[in-house]
Amino acid sequence: MSADTPLKTAARVACVAPSPPRAVFDLASTLDDVVDLTLGDPDLPPPVNVREAACRAVMAGRTRYSANAGLRELRQAVAADAERTLGIPVDPETEVVITVGAMEASFLTLYSLLEPGDEVVIHVPYWINYSQVVRSLGATPVFVYTRPEEGFRLTAEALEEVLTPKTRLVILNSPNNPTGAIIPEKTLARIAELAFERNFAVLSDEIYDSLVYDGKKSSSILSIPGMKERSVLINGVSKRFAMTGYRLGWAIAPASLAAQMTKMQENIVACAPLPAQYAAIEALSPRTDASFIREEFQRRRDVLVQGIDAIPGLKCLPVPATFYAMADISGSGLGAEEFVYRMLREVKVATVFGPAYGGELYRNFIRIAFTVKEERLKIALERMGNFMASLKS
Ligand code: PLP
Repeated sequence: MSADTPLKTAARVACVAPSPPRAVFDLASTLDDVVDLTLGDPDLPPPVNVREAACRAVMAGRTRYSANAGLRELRQAVAADAERTLGIPVDPETEVVITVGAMEASFLTLYSLLEPGDEVVIHVPYWINYSQVVRSLGATPVFVYTRPEEGFRLTAEALEEVLTPKTRLVILNSPNNPTGAIIPEKTLARIAELAFERNFAVLSDEIYDSLVYDGKKSSSILSIPGMKERSVLINGVSKRFAMTGYRLGWAIAPASLAAQMTKMQENIVACAPLPAQYAAIEALSPRTDASFIREEFQRRRDVLVQGIDAIPGLKCLPVPATFYAMADISGSGLGAEEFVYRMLREVKVATVFGPAYGGELYRNFIRIAFTVKEERLKIALERMGNFMASLKS
């Protein structure tokens, strides 16, 4: 397209790089018999009562628009769920916005808060969308790197070092995609102190909070007194109830910000899809037991970690939460990008190269999403073993 075409893309979109995990996923879908471990998209079905609720909504014609902030009954369910898990009061009338996935909740928050030139601190490795949206809004992502040899542990000291008078927002993602790392309560407490001292807001993306293994739990910075008033909590049903395609999430935000986000909602999507809203009401009801999802992923986690560690030249880092593992591939002698594309073409296992999540510090790592059944996971492990053996011969 010539430079003077009226369809020239706006700079705020042109600056967004295509997503590397999607590029590997797209290539994988052109090949036969690939074990696809690229996207964070669970293969399990949602609990049956949740699926039935979605069908009932469709059949009963409850398929029109809702209020921009979402159905009152769903906002009440979200507020009650947050009160139960975080121990904080949430007003369903003014502090909850139902969105098209956590993705839109995060977009709406950033869109409603940021001015060009604002700095947004993001801990790395990170979920790619954060930096893309921040850049696209003319704000500046500022990165705090966490190191594989330290279990990708975020420290408040490292975060403090990158704070400047321009820091408007700190994005926390715990449990973390792509590492599974959990930010300890003590670190959250120190970050909260910094938030008061240095006057920044926090976006806390807790979409993986139900996938914490070995009987442990993650903590939320919003549980710390005073933090709810300067934070936005992002969550949704995608990972907790295996409902990615329903596209249903939410933001819990102070009333003044939630009102602005709700106003923008009218101009972006009007509201989240109604059948998905009814399904989410059912998912959050006491009738739903989704513990099988966590149990299934914990079993797969064990199979994957043991399987990777049994392959000479590969080493899996501990996976306390989420359905992602970071595997150290330095024993292969290849960089992560070459490793990923060669393994995909030669033995048909698709993964994502570590640098996609924040740069060269992660060049010796690949991210493996264990979102396929145990049998397929075992096939993937066997193929990865063959691939490593082929590199040696
Ligand atoms: N936040 C993180 C950290 C994610 O990894 C993802 C999806 O992979 C999302 C948000 C988006 O979730 P949703 O499907 O609810 O839009």
